[in-house]
Amino acid sequence: MTMNLFDAHCHLQDERLTPYLDAAMERAAKAGVTDLMCCGSREKDWPLLPGLAQRFPGVQLSFGLHPWYAGSRSEGWLDALKACLEDTPSSVGEIGLDHALDKTTFTDQETVLLAQIHLANERHLPVTFHCRRAWGRLVELLDETGWPARRFVLHSYSGSVDLVQPLIRRGAFFSFSGAITFEQNRKGRDAVAAVPLDYLLIETDAPDLPPFLPPSVGRLLDSAGKAINEPAHLTAVLTAVAKIKGIPELELAKTTVSNAQSLWP
Ligand SMILES: [Zn+2]
Repeated sequence: MTMNLFDAHCHLQDERLTPYLDAAMERAAKAGVTDLMCCGSREKDWPLLPGLAQRFPGVQLSFGLHPWYAGSRSEGWLDALKACLEDTPSSVGEIGLDHALDKTTFTDQETVLLAQIHLANERHLPVTFHCRRAWGRLVELLDETGWPARRFVLHSYSGSVDLVQPLIRRGAFFSFSGAITFEQNRKGRDAVAAVPLDYLLIETDAPDLPPFLPPSVGRLLDSAGKAINEPAHLTAVLTAVAKIKGIPELELAKTTVSNAQSLWP
């Protein structure tokens, strides 16, 4: 059975992956992960991305300023971002809101988010969102100021089941990560069940969010013994989502690839 998979969200430029990247990408290819959306989240990531797309076929790029780095942005960040989007075929992300951070950052987060949505709309580009504990505010803010016109993906979706249909009406795709491979993540697994197949994507968020894996599966560890996630582990997400949806893995693979291709043609 040949199966192609699309990792809808990863960070191949992350220094935790750098020493292992060639081997990790070989394992990804063996696992069927032929396409990957690599997101640059900080200004220092952006210059690294074009080289990765050249080095590895199947890697697509997204440039954005993540809410974690909103406060430390440089004066010229928006011009630098514009230049990246101009020079390289790409989309915008990951951008968003994170209310797990200190309240004092919220104003900066919103300023940076809105500037980037404006940029995406000007260039007719799709957007990748990061949203943590801020779903109510995200909907409120973007209902007021406008959603990305060229559609968007909610990466590692952690919102409620009740928000699925309202977000679909606003143009969302929902991407699920290794977080839903853990049985105790009831909320995430309920959301997988609630999202119609046509709006579903799967991702690793490598090197973050390692999925549940049997001990027999080899995994990378950092110097502190913490697991480093890699795109090959997308198969664990595929298996878990297919099981929740009650469909064959091959069917889910095909559907998620075609959804990703419609979002990022
Ligand atoms: Zn990410």
